[in-house]
Amino acid sequence: MTHKEILICGNILIPFIFALLITMKVIEHIQQAKDTLISFEILPPVKGRGIQSLFGLLDPLVAFKPAFINVTYHRSEHIFKKKDDGTFEKVIIRKRPGTESICAAIMNKYNVDTVPHLICGGFDINETEDALINLNYLGIDNVLVLRGDAAKNETAFESEPGGHLYAIDLLRQVSNLNAGVYLEEDLKNTSKTKFCIGVAGYPEKHFEAPNMETDLRYLKQKVDAGADYIITQMFFDNKKFYAFVEACRNIGITVPIIPGLKPVYTKKQLTVLPKTFHIDLPTDLSNEMIRCKTDEEVEIVGAEWLLEQSRDLKKSGVPVLHYYTLGRPQIIAGVVEKLV
Ligand SMILES: Cc1cc2nc3c(=O)[nH]c(=O)nc-3n(C[C@H](O)[C@H](O)[C@H](O)COP(=O)(O)OP(=O)(O)OC[C@H]3O[C@@H](n4cnc5c(N)ncnc54)[C@H](O)[C@@H]3O)c2cc1C
Repeated sequence: MTHKEILICGNILIPFIFALLITMKVIEHIQQAKDTLISFEILPPVKGRGIQSLFGLLDPLVAFKPAFINVTYHRSEHIFKKKDDGTFEKVIIRKRPGTESICAAIMNKYNVDTVPHLICGGFDINETEDALINLNYLGIDNVLVLRGDAAKNETAFESEPGGHLYAIDLLRQVSNLNAGVYLEEDLKNTSKTKFCIGVAGYPEKHFEAPNMETDLRYLKQKVDAGADYIITQMFFDNKKFYAFVEACRNIGITVPIIPGLKPVYTKKQLTVLPKTFHIDLPTDLSNEMIRCKTDEEVEIVGAEWLLEQSRDLKKSGVPVLHYYTLGRPQIIAGVVEKLV
């Protein structure tokens, strides 16, 4: 092929390839589904690893045709680096950058919709608007809006100067952009974005909320402000999820509620999961984990537990089973394989 022929062929093929990338919103996937859908959540690779490591993790999972893949966001951290003269300098690092571009790369490689997480922590409203504009240009119409946790050096969450304090404030910014309202009020004839907005919910209560009722009231505010669906924090006792859904419905939350699921695979998680995520492990599960002599045995217990949870949730008619992969695709793949 000559250069000219390649160019002509490219000009015909490239628009054709992009035309095949028909993106859908999470809510459209749910509305059009005939059965419970599958989705996965991944972390961007640690800086320096490269995207191939992520593709290696995703290759076996994409075979299960997930409706969408979420990509988490990680705020920057301050570390103190020792200098040659013995003094310390404050350095800002972001361990896992690249959420937006990873979403675009996944869509491009696998033709699967992606949901970038957006957080309040570490961003002012102008940076947030820029991120949303970038996502819009990339054809990504889904976002999960979150507050983010306190930075390591903070005792409680602090917003960036000129940033948002709660997820609902970030949600309102996204809704404004969907209505064509940008931060620069003078802009005329603006283009409206069309983000489908997800928010987080906590079947075992968010750890800072004084009680479940108050937490649910704030969750309802997020839904009333325009959230299209809720994804929950991980839980290991389905009864807690069902009670949470019922409590949401009782206060008038009608949007789909997607259960977030994760396998256990090490003995250390007996203490790490409750400490980090403020959730309980049911006694039956913790007893089985305690009895295990190795992490390999825990992994078997965890996979069986996750399969039972998934089967029960699917039977109850949940719209989506959302799996936190956290670098363990083989366990999730083993479970999902037995579900379909
Ligand atoms: C599905 C899921 C995905 C996540 N992904 C990420 C991620 O990618 N990156 C990351 O850093 N973290 C992530 N997190 C963690 C999340 O950022 C933390 O749990 C955070 O502490 C709370 O976020 P939120 O969006 O629920 O906050 P909010 O909804 O803002 O709630 C935070 C707390 O404030 C209370 N509250 C809410 N609104 C108000 C109000 N108006 N006035 C007073 N109190 C209020 C709530 O009851 C709650 O206790 C995720 C969590 C979940 C469940």
